[in-house]
Parts: sequence; C-alpha cells; structure tokens
Amino acid sequence: MDYTSVLEFQLEELKQEGRYRYFLENARCAGAFPQSMARTATGEMAITVWCSNDYLGMGQHPKVRAAMHEAIERVGAGSGGTRNISGTTHYHVELERELADLHGKETALVFSSAFVANEAALSTLAQLLPGCVILSDEKNHASMIAGIRNGRGAKIIFRHNDLEDLEEKLAALPPKTPKIIAFESVYSMDGNIATIGAISDLADRYNALTYLDEVHAVGLYGPRGGGIAERDGVMQRVDIINGTLAKGFGVMGGYIAASRTICDAVRSFAPGFIFTTSLSPVIVAGALASIRHLKVSQNERDTHRDRVRAVKQRLARAKLPVIAGPSHIVPVLVSDPVRCKALSDTLLREHGIYVQPINYPTVPRGAERLRITPAPQHTDAMIDALVLALTASWQSVPG
Ligand code: PLP
Repeated sequence: MDYTSVLEFQLEELKQEGRYRYFLENARCAGAFPQSMARTATGEMAITVWCSNDYLGMGQHPKVRAAMHEAIERVGAGSGGTRNISGTTHYHVELERELADLHGKETALVFSSAFVANEAALSTLAQLLPGCVILSDEKNHASMIAGIRNGRGAKIIFRHNDLEDLEEKLAALPPKTPKIIAFESVYSMDGNIATIGAISDLADRYNALTYLDEVHAVGLYGPRGGGIAERDGVMQRVDIINGTLAKGFGVMGGYIAASRTICDAVRSFAPGFIFTTSLSPVIVAGALASIRHLKVSQNERDTHRDRVRAVKQRLARAKLPVIAGPSHIVPVLVSDPVRCKALSDTLLREHGIYVQPINYPTVPRGAERLRITPAPQHTDAMIDALVLALTASWQSVPG
C-alpha cells in the first residue's frame, strides 16, 4: 500500500468539504486577556480572542500565575512519575481534597485532562459492574463516547435531554440490570442545560447511577463554582461528577468527584489513571489557586453573566442568527462549512477578531457555526467592535 497517498487522499477530502482544521498560532498576552498576538503568513497582529474556553480568564489571574511561580521555585517543573511511582505530591493530594469539597463528595481523583477522566472512569465502571448498561445522551462529548466504547459493555443512546425517551429506555431494562446514566450539564456547542434533578429522579426510580460531565460549568455556575448541580441544589443526587481544570479554572487537567469506593475502583483499575505521569505540580498549584479563588469570589461569575447578556442582546439586535440558550455560550449559526471558515478568516484579517469556525464532526453537518464565548474581561468597546465586524463580514462574505 502507498500509505502516504491513502492518507493524503483522506486529508484532501476534508479540505474539499471545507472542514480541514487550520490552527491559528497565537500568544496570549499575560495578564491582558482577551488580548493575544497572532502570527500569520503576513506577520504578527494584535487580536481580541472571542472563542477561548478560559471562560473567566483565570489562566491570566495574578493569584494563579503567582501560585505557579511559587510552585516551580519550590518543587521544580515536573511530578517525576505516575501517581503510584513517586508522582503524588502534596499539591495533588490538596487538589483532590479541594475538589471533593467543591462538589460535596467523599473524594476526588485528578487526571491529565477531563477527556482522560471521562474515558478512564466510564470504561472502568462498565468493566467492573457485570452486565452494566450505559444510557448515554445522544449529544455526549467524544470523551464519554470513547469511555463507553472502550468499556465494551452495552450502550443505549437516549434523545438529547429527553426525559420521556430516557424513562422509556430505563423501564425496558430488567430491574436488576446495573445502569449508568451518562450526561452533561452544559452542552458546549448549543449551550443548553440538562435538568439534573429530573434525571436524578429517574435514576432513583430505576436504581441507576448518574455520571455527570460538568466540564463547561465548573467555576462558572453555583455559589462556589461547583457547576449547574450546585446551582440547582442537586449535587448530592449525582453519583459521579466529572470536571476540567482547563476551562472555567483556566489551567489544565481533569477529574472525577464521587464516593470513596467509586474513586478507589477507578484509581485501582483505570489504565488512563495508572499508566501515565501525573500532572506537573506547577499546573496543580495553579488549578488549586483558581478553585480556591472562585469558591469565594462572585465577581468573575457576576461580570461574566453581564457580558454574556450584553453580547447576546447586541447580536440579536443586529439580526444575526444567534442560537438562543440559557448558558454562557453564544453560537451564531452559519450552516455552511466553507462560509463559516471564510467568516472567521475575514473577522481575523480585517478586524483582528478571533472566532474559530466550528464544523463537522464537532457539530452535525449543516449546523456549522461561530461559537462566541464572552469573558468578564471583554469590555463594552470590544463588544461594539465584535458586533460591527460580524455584521460587516456577514454582508461581505457570500452565503
Ligand atoms: N467533556 C466535554 C463536554 C468537553 O467539551 C471537553 C472538552 O472540550 C471535555 C470533556 C474534555 O476536557 P479537557 O479539555 O479537560 O480534556
């Protein structure tokens, strides 16, 4: 086989469809989020980032940066091993305590990312619980899908956020069959939110465990940043909460928070936890500082909500097709991968505004969009510039 031409053919197909991924090289300006310097073929340019998942700008927060500086001076750069072989530092232990407290759970377990946490936890639980069936929301993230697939157990997909469909599927299973309902709180591409309490009612009725991905909610919702489950007063009703340290908390890493026994089982059996170097203590120190700050400070959450409201209102007033939703995510529907990319290029080149196009398979074909994520640091002037630039590009880029 001519390996190279087979691969090149498949890459060419992506390009033809307009969904080949081009990365924008940029350097965020420390302490000046959402400003960044982009490096393009024509040179460097100052840009305003409107698509970061550092939702609260915590990756630039002085406390977070100071904690990371302090940690690197105290203990050096890396952890030096897997958690089992010399890689469990005080920082890791403290972080797991902090996360357990955040979610009101007995304990927590930190992974290199929330992707790895989802894959490791779901695949391990599926393997350890004989005959387990996982009921999975149809819009679940790729990491949950990977975990469910790697668990090699039975899977049933229920319609997105559809309680009736979920109940029908639960009721059709024998009462003694072990079941896990896997779902997200904030769905990151449309910005809609699950009714966690109602799903927990069904879990109680049919004796199922609940596995909730709060990746797009931790830090942002709830009085201490515990996510939608905290905001809705239902944290205790969820068995396993998954979160990231990379988005609302602005650093890197992922975790689950659950009972001692569930975490111990994942800790003891999941290859994705066992056979990999633990996070750098520097990263862990930054995440700890971020979580501690957001547990007590409402300022970021309040300002964030205000900025999100302003962006949604201004874009709707400009008659741009914003997908309405209750969360902080502001998707503008383009419905064409080539136009989506052209709009993003025009915004960057002509207006210094960075919004990455979102194409298939991240969203279904025909649902391509610009996904705007306002942060507390976006000023009124930046919002004015965004609305003007998007309106002008919408007219100049053919549909
Ligand atoms: N879960 C969901 C719903 C996500 O959208 C993502 C990433 O975007 C992840 C998990 C993975 O998070 P991380 O970036 O920490 O790997």
